[in-house]
Amino acid sequence: MTDTSAEIQSNAMLPCPGCKQPLKLMLDEGAPVRACEKCKGIWVDVIDEKVLFQIKPEVFTVDEIRRLRRLYKPMGKLEEVRLRVCPACKELMYRKNWGGHSGVVVDRCAQHGSWYDEGEVEKIREYVRLGGIEFEKLSLTEQGLSGLQSKLNNEVTRLDIRIDSAYRRARLWNLLVF
Ligand SMILES: [Zn+2]
Ligand SMILES: [Zn+2]
Repeated sequence: MTDTSAEIQSNAMLPCPGCKQPLKLMLDEGAPVRACEKCKGIWVDVIDEKVLFQIKPEVFTVDEIRRLRRLYKPMGKLEEVRLRVCPACKELMYRKNWGGHSGVVVDRCAQHGSWYDEGEVEKIREYVRLGGIEFEKLSLTEQGLSGLQSKLNNEVTRLDIRIDSAYRRARLWNLLVF
């Protein structure tokens, strides 16, 4: 038997990570997804995930995005942790706060795709529409900037100390010579 398991897998029936019922292939906003009729969750392959959230965000200024900060939720304490297995490879999936601050925790297999519980796709679309991705970029930039700033401050302090001691040495030298 030749090894075409990857190919077979992509067409095979995948079981729902929640109830193990076979998932049904369907389209959601043009993205092929596999849905569970019982749990109402959907599975989306890694390559199709971008399409699922191709939404134009509203346009915000940087100040508006900063003000929106209170809407966004960092990954806090997780309610109850129920780890699920990837329907494709059966490995345990990891849990991720989608986009960093959406507050929607999705189950993800880096190789195969993500599982969204009922209503999570809609919540993420709302997050994207409300500038969540822009917010994420902004906070990463700000983090980077404050990191640079503190590095710079350290350098300046070190330089100050060096200049100070050089100056004192010079004064001492002058006192001794003249
Ligand atoms: Zn299910
Ligand atoms: Zn997998």
